[in-house]
Amino acid sequence: MKLPSRSKAYMIPEYSLTGDLLSFLTCNLQYRYQNKGTLPPSKPVQRWFGEFIHGVMEEAFIQWSQNKTEFPWDWKNDIRPIEDLIDLRLQARGLYPHDEDLFFSTTNHEVENLNEHDHKKLASARAEKAINIWGKHLFPLIDSSELLIKGIRDMPQYDENRSRSNYYGINGVVDVLTSMKINKTLEQSNLDNYNNKIIEILKKNESFKQRIKDSEDGDDYEIIIDYKGMKRPPIEVKNPKAENKWESHKQQILTYSWLRSQQEDAKSIFAGIIFYLNELVPSKEDLLLIQEEMENNLIDEKTLKKYENDFKLIENWQEDDKAPELSEEFKLERSIRIININEEEIDESLEKFDEVVYNIEESLINEMKGCKIQDAWKAEADERTCTACDFKTFCKNNKNKPKEFKIP
Ligand code: SF4
Repeated sequence: MKLPSRSKAYMIPEYSLTGDLLSFLTCNLQYRYQNKGTLPPSKPVQRWFGEFIHGVMEEAFIQWSQNKTEFPWDWKNDIRPIEDLIDLRLQARGLYPHDEDLFFSTTNHEVENLNEHDHKKLASARAEKAINIWGKHLFPLIDSSELLIKGIRDMPQYDENRSRSNYYGINGVVDVLTSMKINKTLEQSNLDNYNNKIIEILKKNESFKQRIKDSEDGDDYEIIIDYKGMKRPPIEVKNPKAENKWESHKQQILTYSWLRSQQEDAKSIFAGIIFYLNELVPSKEDLLLIQEEMENNLIDEKTLKKYENDFKLIENWQEDDKAPELSEEFKLERSIRIININEEEIDESLEKFDEVVYNIEESLINEMKGCKIQDAWKAEADERTCTACDFKTFCKNNKNKPKEFKIP
């Protein structure tokens, strides 16, 4: 009797929204070395702030749910212990801050010894503002945080002789999901005895207003929220090699909303919100980038006019000067972005995701068939990404390679 052989393992490739989509769009070759080759970046400090601020906001929400501590929170008593906890968690994963970003906790846990200089370190200043400015309005609206969502799609351009599978999986982690009732939103400008700024901003958004109008009074709806440890990106990019982060972030939220809609307990998703938390305390590098955007006409006329004084302060600021005193409204407006959710845009974003997956799969298959890594994956990125890239010394497309040293 002939025993049947075990069938080949059936594997569905899994793609994550941030780890794969955003990273592949930054540079295909860098993505290959970092993600598929599982080579961690040699300077993990680049990843540190994003992970730190996500951890701080998540932990602050947990503590607020348990203790309902009134805002504003005191930095030394309420916020510093959270920073310390998150910093230690990140250190265990080999992620360390720059000395100028955060008071380093392995050397001294005594908050009494902290001085004003330590308090003003960049990551601490941003954590404090993020909690006291946005946490105050956001935490009362949160339904769940760090929610894992997954979905499955047909493999784009499936070919049974070439493709690895006829499906692929998408996954992502939603930072925050809020759930609200229509009638409560309409009455609401008063939540927990203060005006909720997030609801106020949403109620001024035309598309959101229409969704509310078209809905039944007692219905629930959801809003997807994502924190970004970065400045607000420009709406367009001049350099064709650079990733358009403005578009990629929108695509990320739209894909999240499709994934969420696949879950049984999902309600209608009315909007997405991205918080660009660096805008609350911009660094020198952020200010230089805003100056560059102004020079390249990447800021719209309406915003330039509305915040004329703030933009003037940024324009006149020199790298060695103290940071300009920007108005609170300017910082608030730049730190929040509303994404409108509708079926058409969701379909478009899923098509773009399929396209990215197709390109990754093609590069992978070419490499598996013997093509050299640098031929199978496109090496294309903006100058800043290349300058910070670990692979620049041997990447054939990079102009920032250190000059070869020739012995005379
Ligand atoms: S040097 Fe630039 S083009 Fe080359 S892998 Fe790095 S980011 Fe990509």
